[in-house]
Amino acid sequence: MNTKTHIIIIEDEKNICSFMATTLTAQGYKVSTASNGANGLSLVTSSCPDLILLDLGLPDMDGLDIIGKIRTWASIPIIVISARTQEQEKVFALDSGADDYITKPFGPSELMARIRTALRHGNRLHTDSLLSLRPYRADGLVIDFDKHLITLQGNEIHLTQVEYKIVSLLAQNSGRVMTYASIISNVWGPYADDNNRILRVNMANIRRKLEQNPAEPHYIFTEIGIGYRMLEDKPESQCQAVL
Ligand code: CA
Repeated sequence: MNTKTHIIIIEDEKNICSFMATTLTAQGYKVSTASNGANGLSLVTSSCPDLILLDLGLPDMDGLDIIGKIRTWASIPIIVISARTQEQEKVFALDSGADDYITKPFGPSELMARIRTALRHGNRLHTDSLLSLRPYRADGLVIDFDKHLITLQGNEIHLTQVEYKIVSLLAQNSGRVMTYASIISNVWGPYADDNNRILRVNMANIRRKLEQNPAEPHYIFTEIGIGYRMLEDKPESQCQAVL
């Protein structure tokens, strides 16, 4: 397969845009850039890229509107580029269909990790839904979704039904952030009270069972003000599943 993965960057800050373009080109991606929302949208519609990096603060349009427009016709992974102080904006972006976000300033390795995860989840949706049901494996934690079985270093972990739902949701989306609202509606249903307290209580219990030190979690990280992100499962097991 010689076709390069095509990434569109919509970002008006020249330094950030050229840093990302250089990093991605060096990694073998095909890159196109736009410095405002209108050009970005027309680039996306004309070339249908594999992934979009989107700054929310653009001179002519609100990035959230761009997400909304793209999501009416395409499920292309969108990673939002955001400033550190804009928690609420990140949550809105994720809940309106962005796949993930990256916070300025960021380095090349963080950028590449986010992109790999988003592409992997994007491909998974398009190609093989069964792939997402292969067991999750990372650093001694194994979740067998078929058997509803969780083991840590070979020892079975007993979770309540709700705790299991939360962990398996995060594991099936490992590497990506999940907002509080999206976890709550997935676990308790769309009409559940949009109150994080019950989720936090469950997470505290989950961490007591899963984490060696619940105060410094290794498997499930808190993204403050936004949600949770689970340690990405390891690609080795992915290869086995494909074979
Ligand atoms: Ca900007």
